[in-house]
Amino acid sequence: MLQIYRQSKIIKPKTDIYNVTHLQAVKNHQAKNPEASKSSNLESVKKYQIKMETNFPPKLLSPLLQHKIATSFCKDTLPQAFEESRCAVCGTLVTPFDLVSSNV
Ligand SMILES: [Zn+2]
Repeated sequence: MLQIYRQSKIIKPKTDIYNVTHLQAVKNHQAKNPEASKSSNLESVKKYQIKMETNFPPKLLSPLLQHKIATSFCKDTLPQAFEESRCAVCGTLVTPFDLVSSNV
């Protein structure tokens, strides 16, 4: 039998005692370096805001993209896109777009 040892990440349980001592340590650190902790907190807040920035509502479409979407829709819904014609050689039903004229 194959046995695999996988080292698991040790996660500290966040008990009330842990939270209280952590909060006290943070307060001590902030009291010792008020300016440094204030600026690092501000930096973290800015990073968080950038990370959480959403793309809603989306930006307006550019005129080029609007034109591309409308043109593609018109092309895809042309009556010819729904018609079927037979290939003169093998008889397969295809759209007229896929056929090529031949003078043979
Ligand atoms: Zn054919």
